Amino acid sequence: MGKTSKDKRDIYYRRAKEEGWRARSAFKLLQIDNECHILNGVNKAVDLCAAPGSWSQVLSRRLNENYKKALETGNATPPKIVAVDLQAMAPLEGVIQIQGDITNINTAKQIISHFDNEQADLVVCDGAPDVTGLHDMDIYIQSQLLLAALNITTHILRQGGTFVAKIFRAKDVTLLYAQLKIFFPYVYCTKPSSSRNSSIEAFVVCKDYSPPEGYKPHMLNPLLTHKPCDFDELTGINRVIVPFVVCGDLSQPDSDTCYPLNFEGKEYTYHEPVQTPIAPPYQEALTLLENRDTDFRRSDVNVVVDNLSSMTI
Ligand code: SAM
Repeated sequence: MGKTSKDKRDIYYRRAKEEGWRARSAFKLLQIDNECHILNGVNKAVDLCAAPGSWSQVLSRRLNENYKKALETGNATPPKIVAVDLQAMAPLEGVIQIQGDITNINTAKQIISHFDNEQADLVVCDGAPDVTGLHDMDIYIQSQLLLAALNITTHILRQGGTFVAKIFRAKDVTLLYAQLKIFFPYVYCTKPSSSRNSSIEAFVVCKDYSPPEGYKPHMLNPLLTHKPCDFDELTGINRVIVPFVVCGDLSQPDSDTCYPLNFEGKEYTYHEPVQTPIAPPYQEALTLLENRDTDFRRSDVNVVVDNLSSMTI
């Protein structure tokens, strides 16, 4: 594959490198914010499933702008961003990083410990499992990530705060909507134009955190699924239909289309990825390949030497 083929195929990948974002996903958060204004006035945020860190970059940029604005009016505290992922992430200035599994109680406790005397204004989660190709399994794991994120959120989000999370629009998604509706009066499902139409991913934007009266966040019940719940038994408010919002209009590039490299009317320049993976899962394969090449070369040399020494001059 050519060096520029991904640039040709994916305009958001190309733009991300041009604008200095670590991943094309940055545009998803930016487009959700354009439509739903989730970053206005936010000072403390948690980015769950954050690697390689483009959402944290967006948060860092916007929270610092909010801080500067607040300083002008006098009363301001420096922003706080906590980013969590299973994978290690290259450092980002001003972002506290935790490496861990968000479905694990110890990671959840670590996150919560950063909000001892304060609360977050916003929790975002772009978590996606490594897709197995077994759709039901992928959808189930995705929903467990969302519920784990929601459970952490109930420990740290301030009343009135916002929760944004990736969701797979699949069978039984209404059960998740119903669970979210228990905590948030406003639950929207959004699809940014940078998210491929061919993907079942969408994002729930949940506003105005208002836990039910008497609700106590509890880590012993991390996935909020203490009782097996038969979806068909849900009625009324528990089967709410969530408004669907498309972020962006037809003036935005379509993420499933290939555009020519000069599409945006400017001369094309190739950009290296902003942040290459620091510990990619294919690292071991690369090392093996490198060693294998050396062995090949060594054995090639040996054959030549053997041939030479057996020659009678
Ligand atoms: N928002 C990120 C960005 O803009 O750079 C991209 C996130 S990527 C689509 C999904 C991430 O979810 C992966 O980095 C993966 O390691 C993480 N992830 C999946 N399951 C997780 C879990 N149980 N705990 C923590 N992170 C998880």
